[in-house]
Amino acid sequence: MNSYITHLECSLTQETYPKDTVLELSNAGRPLLVKYDLEALSKSIAKEEFKDSPLPGFWRYYPLLPISSQESIISLGETITPLINVSKEYDNLEVLIKDEGRLPTGSFKARGLALAVAMAKEFKLEHLAIPTNGNAGAALAAYASRAGLKSSVYCPKDTPQINILETKLQGAETILIDGLINDCGKIVLEGKQSQGWFDVSTLKEPYRLEGKKTMGIELAEQLNWKLPDAIFYPTGGGTGLIGMWKAFHEMHAMGWIEKPFPRMYAVQSTGCAPIVKAFNKKERFAELWQDPTSEPWGIRVPVAVGDFLILDAIYESNGSAIAVDDSAVITKRNELASKGVMLCPEGAATALALDHAIQNGEVKPEEQVVLFNCATGLKYPMPGLPN
Ligand SMILES: *Cc1c(COP(=O)(O)O)cnc(C)c1O
Repeated sequence: MNSYITHLECSLTQETYPKDTVLELSNAGRPLLVKYDLEALSKSIAKEEFKDSPLPGFWRYYPLLPISSQESIISLGETITPLINVSKEYDNLEVLIKDEGRLPTGSFKARGLALAVAMAKEFKLEHLAIPTNGNAGAALAAYASRAGLKSSVYCPKDTPQINILETKLQGAETILIDGLINDCGKIVLEGKQSQGWFDVSTLKEPYRLEGKKTMGIELAEQLNWKLPDAIFYPTGGGTGLIGMWKAFHEMHAMGWIEKPFPRMYAVQSTGCAPIVKAFNKKERFAELWQDPTSEPWGIRVPVAVGDFLILDAIYESNGSAIAVDDSAVITKRNELASKGVMLCPEGAATALALDHAIQNGEVKPEEQVVLFNCATGLKYPMPGLPN
């Protein structure tokens, strides 16, 4: 493990945990955060050095990641994902789409699972299991197989065919469940106890978050260490939003960026919007969303163990949580595709949420906005092609 790590900390109670041990959730049942000696780190690395790194994609930030050294890197050819400028579609706004679909396995789940698998390997774990709506399972399968670890993937039976097939093909035991992602989570939890699997569910181990954190560092580096005014993020478990927020605090502590941080907008679907509901009631914790019907699978997450971390970031940044309509999402996806920008439905949902935020004056003229497209549009059903 990275020697600059001092300890781990419960995100809710701040109770501390020792490094160099296999950890999952805290005693309070909440996510653990990895804590670094940022002062020492800021003296040992300069942000200007990253651009000359020979390492693939986000691995260039390894001094800020939990792995003990470059030797632990498991690579499938990660890349710095581009910012696509779509400003000409807007009046007087700078809008950039961070296209995470360019990563291995076609989604940003690669960031988190590459780190979780690298750490599992350092800890000599053998068998990893995950509940997924599709992309996380595929990323786990690929990185675990690459690292020589076993993986079991549980997904709802209506998960897109392409995700089920790619996961199997990349070597994971793949099981379909008549239920939702949280039902899959329960099965993984049982298997953890009876089979000795390690559970790599969203935020239930500390390292996927560290991988997702690289989105925030990468964005800062791409924008010359000046973050945008607002970030729109399609929110399921919220790892990316929480990870970027953690990155902003760490970079600020090291003197790499200045405040204010970007306003964080969590985007969900009206068919499954627990974070939006909690935000509208000004609450810190979200209730389980009953009977979710959301079509964009990546954000069909009825309950998130890091709910308060998502909401804290929204409140602290003066952001918001916005629910968009499923059918409008597909129309938006099709409209953007006709202009040459093909997003995944979750990515299109962020563009739709931006339209809402412009209409109600939350986003102001001349602001710079970043939308996250979290997976390649090619993985999703298209008009004229059955799922
Ligand atoms: C997983 C996923 C999301 C949600 O990401 P979280 O960080 O878990 O909130 C959004 N879009 C796509 C395509 C995904 O695969």
